[in-house]
Amino acid sequence: MVFGSLLLLAGPANAQGPIDASRATATVTAGSLERIRDTAMQSDWAYRTLQTLTDQIGPRLSGSPQLEAAILRLAAVMRELGATVTLQPVKVPHWERGLEQASLVSYPGQVGKLEQKLHLTALGGSGSTPPGGAEAPVLVIRDFTELEQRAGAVRGAIVLFTKAFDQNLADNGLAGQAYEQAGQYRFSGPAAAAALGASAVLVRSVGPAGTRLPHTGATTWKEGQSAIPAAALASEDADLIERLAQAGPVRLHLLLTPRTLPDADSFNVIADWPGTTHPEQVVVVSGHLDSWDLATGALDDGVGVIGAAGVLQVLQQLGLHAQRTIRFIAWTNEENGTRGAKAYAEAQRDHFADHIAAIESDEGGGRALGIRAAVSPASAAALKPVLQVLAPIGATGLERRDSPTGADITPLQRAGVPGFAPLVDARHYFDLHHTAADTFDKVDALSLRSHVATLAVLAWWLAEHSDRLQSSVGAP
Ligand SMILES: [Zn+2]
Repeated sequence: MVFGSLLLLAGPANAQGPIDASRATATVTAGSLERIRDTAMQSDWAYRTLQTLTDQIGPRLSGSPQLEAAILRLAAVMRELGATVTLQPVKVPHWERGLEQASLVSYPGQVGKLEQKLHLTALGGSGSTPPGGAEAPVLVIRDFTELEQRAGAVRGAIVLFTKAFDQNLADNGLAGQAYEQAGQYRFSGPAAAAALGASAVLVRSVGPAGTRLPHTGATTWKEGQSAIPAAALASEDADLIERLAQAGPVRLHLLLTPRTLPDADSFNVIADWPGTTHPEQVVVVSGHLDSWDLATGALDDGVGVIGAAGVLQVLQQLGLHAQRTIRFIAWTNEENGTRGAKAYAEAQRDHFADHIAAIESDEGGGRALGIRAAVSPASAAALKPVLQVLAPIGATGLERRDSPTGADITPLQRAGVPGFAPLVDARHYFDLHHTAADTFDKVDALSLRSHVATLAVLAWWLAEHSDRLQSSVGAP
């Protein structure tokens, strides 16, 4: 209460005479929410910090020296703000991309021996071809049902999954569902085809066609299965093979030389902004610091992680501390293992009850439209004051759901911690997601401010609000 009282004494409400404690708290809270919103909308701290992170350090894949540099840089930045910073050790997978080339070497209508070069990129966790590459027939497969039907034809073939990203869903506000539908072929298609004896797997890029850019991302193998070569093919090239294969056999030469190295040392960056009356109770506001290696991860998840860091900068600028601790976390290894999330949950096992809420921002740099909340209907209704404060910036949308709101905060949510995310305009997030074009020039400064404002208002309200909200994902 120390900070709340100081603030009240400094404010105009004090001119009225003696302070009624219950009314005073309410006044401070409402006034603070608006000041927090306005301060966030006027600060370019997150934008400048994100620029130095992406421009000066670059891509931040787990195990890379760049991720290590980013962790140390961000820890220093948060210490400079006055936060209490802890580096939590985490062992992370260390996978390195090698050469990646493919060409059509034989296909219907081919002129002589003329080959066609394809645009592709290895999936995280992919195995490698022999050093000189490998040649095999392509088996075009639309979906898992067809894979089952044609199981007998898989052995030795390069399976190409052609499931397309449904941009129409994304255009209409369902980008997450479009990503899940197409993404399942990237996550588990290679393992399913490998189990049937495929020599390699290609998946149509998870994202709309239009730029001929391959989208990387993690793929996972079944227990005991050895990794086969697996890559994402630019949508245009997947379409090309699909057309050619309708007329006859297609053969492809593939060279992928990634390496899986021993697990590497990494860290979650945990920066506490201590609470005044209940410092042991925490509201987590977070994003992931690791990124794919093709680009600087400005959108995935630069805007999310630095937007979340911006919450503490706003509170620092205003000299505000909430009753509860606001804990910024920059997660490591979200992209290919979520080991940071697992390590945090493991370490906090006895303290889940002290976690009032967990927020993660990881859906790109579109404008903030409101809040996504994995809470009970009654708890969702209690969020009304937050949305009212966000009305002037147009972030009044509320999406209540019964599934987790972020990969890194999933373990907390399964343990009964209410989960949140900013609801953002993600219509075009998957255009460049996990491609070589996810760079700082794509970041919109005003949208980033709207993220910080939304995160800061929500985090402050959760840290000041006395009632506990109820998770719709897990029970405590
Ligand atoms: Zn992400």
